[in-house]
Parts: sequence; structure tokens; C-alpha cells
Amino acid sequence: MFITHGHLDHIGGIPYVIDRIGYPPIFTRRLTAIMIKKRQEEFPHLKPLDIHEVEKEDTIKAGNTRVRFFSVTHTIPDAMGIIIETPYGDLVFTGDLKLDHVDGVPTAEEEKEFAIFKDRKILFLAADSTNVEKAGFSIPESTVKKNMDEIIATTPGRLIIGTFSSQLERLMRMVEQAEKVGRKVLVEGRSMKVNLEIVRHLGLLKVNDKTFIGAESLESLPDSKVLILATGAQGDEFAALMRIAVKTHKHVKIKKNDTIVLSSSIVPGNERSVQKLKDNLSRQGARIIHRDQMDVHASGHANRDETFWIHQKINPRFFMPLHGYHYMLRVHADIAKACGRQENEIVVPDNGAVIEIQDEGQKIVRLKEMAPNSLRLVDGFAIGDMQEVVIRDRTVLAAEGMFVIIATVNPKTGRLRKSPDIISRGFVYLRESQDLLQQARIIIKKTIEDTTKGMQPVNFDYVKNNVTDAVARFLFEKTNKRPIVIPVVLGV
Ligand SMILES: [Zn+2]
Repeated sequence: MFITHGHLDHIGGIPYVIDRIGYPPIFTRRLTAIMIKKRQEEFPHLKPLDIHEVEKEDTIKAGNTRVRFFSVTHTIPDAMGIIIETPYGDLVFTGDLKLDHVDGVPTAEEEKEFAIFKDRKILFLAADSTNVEKAGFSIPESTVKKNMDEIIATTPGRLIIGTFSSQLERLMRMVEQAEKVGRKVLVEGRSMKVNLEIVRHLGLLKVNDKTFIGAESLESLPDSKVLILATGAQGDEFAALMRIAVKTHKHVKIKKNDTIVLSSSIVPGNERSVQKLKDNLSRQGARIIHRDQMDVHASGHANRDETFWIHQKINPRFFMPLHGYHYMLRVHADIAKACGRQENEIVVPDNGAVIEIQDEGQKIVRLKEMAPNSLRLVDGFAIGDMQEVVIRDRTVLAAEGMFVIIATVNPKTGRLRKSPDIISRGFVYLRESQDLLQQARIIIKKTIEDTTKGMQPVNFDYVKNNVTDAVARFLFEKTNKRPIVIPVVLGV
């Protein structure tokens, strides 16, 4: 297993699949290896991983192929692409990447890195499609750095920066700048703390211990000497920034004249929670800077013109777009066509697709069989595909509520001992629904006694099913809702 970089969407699944695929050796670079090991600690029931750290210059022999690596620009150190050498040409996987550039001209380092493909026969390319729909070149991280450096140096009061813990390069640059201008850094958010500790441990981030402070030192420092780095720029309920915004954070309270930078994009679907975050912060007098006002965030994925450049540099015989919604894969396929690929030289895959290059590198085909690729549901400690019933019940409970019937039946006569008890949760408010309950009781009584008439002994499962059907039908007619109906029928 070769891992290109340490982002959770690339390493997060390892603990859930590694035992199902027989613990193959894992090859990756230093930082990624440590992040994988760190995560593995949360899964003590698994066997230790067989991780091999590789460096860019290394070559791994695997059967009659050799695997090599190349550096790519992304948002985390040690990101790399993978080259598999075969007798018919190289297979190239970019992993996540963008290009470092100045006004749409890739830097000399990028030119140098991509020159390795120049005189080689590249049989196949699989590349990142995340942002291929966006025009031009992505904002270079150097622009973001320039702006963040300025903000950290010149903001008069306290500065709070919300970003993703995965933006590790940016976090490192911000800590360095804070140290340079004499701001102390408080890190709020577990994933951010862990990631920064790892890069410090590896010597990738060299700053003084004293640059970091604990929450208890906040009040003893002048506001202009404080930088708080916080997770939760997406408005997630339990992350640091949201807790600060809704005043449930233990140590950090918003002050008038605080400046808050949201150094992040809004992940689709999070628009409302991010708005709530901004509303809550600004209500308390904070000034907010976000990406619509200034380049304080850049994505780690290549836009259209960068992608075009990458295709031209690698110039593969066959192409397969990776990473992105199916639509993005199609857009990426069009870019490959614009670079000269023919329709039959491109495969747009689905998850689990098995692609084969045949006839000594003359033909690319998608096989009929699929690799296992179903979703693994993680619910508390339970992991597996068999939880669908649980989730279905939970969805119904959330949308419609539940209606519990408790009836005691005389097993000899089949008649009710007393009027049935009813419990309702999340369905109707019982006190205001006396009519409905009264009618429900009559239906329950009638259904049970009609069913048990002449039945000896009483078949309780059969009775329960009939009660469920009758009550569910009645409740739907009266309320247009389908709560989960749970009958408890006791023979006493
Ligand atoms: Zn990534």
C-alpha cells in the first residue's frame, strides 16, 4: 500500500480496511508514516502496521515492477506522487496536488520536478480532479502567506485564526510569523495540536517552546501579543471556534476589537453553520476577515489551467481521472482530450472499478468485475455493513417519532385486563392529543380482542403484528405521520 500524504481522506480509512486486506506493508514518507501510526493508536485491537518510511530518491522493488516517487505541492509537508515502472512504460499517480506559481507561471522548482517525465515513456496517468472545474490557476499559497504575515504583524488587538488542521503548511508558517513578531500562540483544537506537535517533533517546524502558551496565560498578556489558532472554521458544533462563538468555551471569550480570520473555504453543505458562526462572533463585536474579502485561503488542488500544464508535462498514453465527484472526473477527462488524448485512451472510473492495460500497453479496458467498495459504516465502536436497519430506525425516529403500546391480556379469555398504556416520544404531545389517544385505545382493544377470539393458546406475535398494522394505519390517517409503533403485549 502506497500512501501519498497524511490527510485524513487518504489515511483515515486504513484502520477500517487494513485487517480485511491482510495487513500489506505500507510505504510512505516520514510525516505521513507518523500520522498513520498516531491514528492507529486509537484502534488498539488491530495488529501493528508494517510501515516503511521512504524518501523521494528511494526505489521500491515489487515483483517485476519498481516504484519511485516525486514531490508535489499540496497543503501538508511530505506530499508525493507515485511512479510505478513497468516493462511497457510508467504508471503515474499524482495524489493531491496543485502547482506553486507566480501569476500562472509555474516556479522553477515545479519545472524541475516535472522534468523527470520528459524522456520517459509514460503509459498511464491518474490525477487529482477536485478543482478542475475552476478556471485559471489556483491562488498560490505564497499569496496567502504574504497576507497572513501582514495580518499577524499589524492587527492591533487580539487575533484569532480559524482554519483546518489539515492546512499544516499554513499553520506552520503562521506560528513562525507569530514568533517573529512577538505574538504568543494558543492552539485550540485537538487535531491541530497533534499535527503541530508532530511537525515540531520531526524538526519540520523549528520554533521556541515559549512561543506556545496555555489558556491560563491568556489574561496576563496584552491583546496585541496573542494569536489563537482554532479549529472549527466550518462552524462544526463542538470545535473550538464555534464553542468560542457561542460562549461555551472554557477559557476564550470574545472581546470587542478581536480580529477573527477564517482562513478556510466553506465545504459545500456547511454554509448555514458557517453563517451562524460569523453571526455569533460579530454579534459580540469581533471583526471578521474571510476569503471573500482577501486571499486568506487557498485550496490544495489544481485548477483547470494547472491541470492542463500537468498533463502536458507528464504526457501519458492513457489517462484516468481520480478524486472528485463523477462530474469532476468527466470535466477532467475533457481536459485530457484537449491535451490530445482520444476517447478510447481515457477511462472514467467508479469506486471499485478494475482497470486493465492489455496487449503490452496497447489498450486500456475497464473490467466487468468490481473490487469491494461498499461504504463502511462507523457508529460508535460498531463498524460494519450490517447496521443499515439501525440507521433506518434512527432516521424514522428522528423524522416521525415513536408510539409505544403496552397492553395486558388475560391469556385464557384473550381479553384486555385494563385499558392499554401509551407512550409517545417525538410524535405528538400526549396531553394535547387526548382524542387521538382515546380512539387509539379503542382500536387497540378491538384489534387484540378480535384477533384472540377463539385462539387457544394466544399467539402473541400474531397479535402484536395486527396491533402494529392497525395502529400505524390509524395514526397515519389522523396525523399524516408514520411513527415507529412498538406494541408490548403481555399475557398476565
Ligand atoms: Zn490532501
